[in-house]
Amino acid sequence: MSDTKLGFATRAIHDGQKPDAATGAVNVPIYLTSTYQQDGIGETRGGHEYARLTNPTRDALEESLCSLEGGTSAHCFGSGMAAITAMVTMMKTGDHVVCTDNMYGGTGRLFDQVMTNYGLTFSYVDTRDAKAVAAAIRPETKLVHIETPTNPMMSVTDIRAVAEVCHARGVELSVDNTFLSPYLQRPIELGADIVMHSTTKFLNGHSDGLGGVLVATRPEQAERFRFVQKCTGGILSPFDSYLLLRGVKTLAVRMEQHEKNGRVVGSFLAERLGADKVFYPGLETHPQHELAKRQQRGFGSMMSFECGSLEAANTFAKRLKLCYLAESLGGVETLMCHPATMTHAAVGAKRRAELGITDGLMRVSVGIEDVGDIVGDLEQALG
Ligand SMILES: *Cc1c(COP(=O)(O)O)cnc(C)c1O
Repeated sequence: MSDTKLGFATRAIHDGQKPDAATGAVNVPIYLTSTYQQDGIGETRGGHEYARLTNPTRDALEESLCSLEGGTSAHCFGSGMAAITAMVTMMKTGDHVVCTDNMYGGTGRLFDQVMTNYGLTFSYVDTRDAKAVAAAIRPETKLVHIETPTNPMMSVTDIRAVAEVCHARGVELSVDNTFLSPYLQRPIELGADIVMHSTTKFLNGHSDGLGGVLVATRPEQAERFRFVQKCTGGILSPFDSYLLLRGVKTLAVRMEQHEKNGRVVGSFLAERLGADKVFYPGLETHPQHELAKRQQRGFGSMMSFECGSLEAANTFAKRLKLCYLAESLGGVETLMCHPATMTHAAVGAKRRAELGITDGLMRVSVGIEDVGDIVGDLEQALG
């Protein structure tokens, strides 16, 4: 169990990751088993019956992530999308969800093209405005799901203000914390009821495995999420759980370096292109810079910038030598993505235009290479 007096970096290394009781091995073993021997009928060892329900490697990871987010339990799934699906499948026909208008494209696709078939309805609002959230809540609203900062426009929502609106109306608030990780933002401390991550990104940090997590704050949520794990089976494998445990141990040092490199790259892009062409909460010109400073421990290393046109963006992308043009984010390597054709292709041109996602917009996930090398590559690619 977590000792809240210990610091974040210590907990990232030790919580859930005690030496193996049988051998003293300092790493949690990868338990490759689908089932567990019972000593008699109903006599399990430590409650383990079948690996869809529990696996000691996944259990260790869930304890670790629960500690880092400050929740009461964590529940790991095979991908971020599987985690969001698990959260949403607990609703009933007729229920309504209010979401951030400018969120991960895959989440919108799941809501609009899959979940609406089951009678759920979704409203998309600019959650930077807590009053807009209040106005969108209806008697049948069960959940408000926000992303902050948003993908890819980097707008920031006041978690505390939205949590107050939700709680006044008896609605739960879930926060997708993928872009910052618990090292830089802890939504539960600001009033969130559920924290969700695509662990594929910063929590894993090495671009070598997919995963997702839901962190609960109440026993009835835990029971609900455990039940969905058991019923739908979209759980994280023992090997991927191990990779994530390994990644999480260095989360604090990685995020410190992502943060430092992010600030340098953000300033470079603002100087080179003009601050109005760069979307990064770390810039003083960012409209929610003060809010980001207040509610986040750092600005992170995600940002977007405007190249002017699809042709200019493509020329830039093709000239890159060190940074990779690739989907995803949060790895040790610097990744560039073209939201209009990659992450936000499913959103449609009309909606993209409304959100400001132009054909010339590029998104950067600043890695932890030597920052001079990253800036040098951007400089030569900008021409
Ligand atoms: C990647 C991502 C997801 C989806 O997660 P997967 O692990 O790819 O399924 C959800 N939300 C955000 C903010 C993401 O970046």
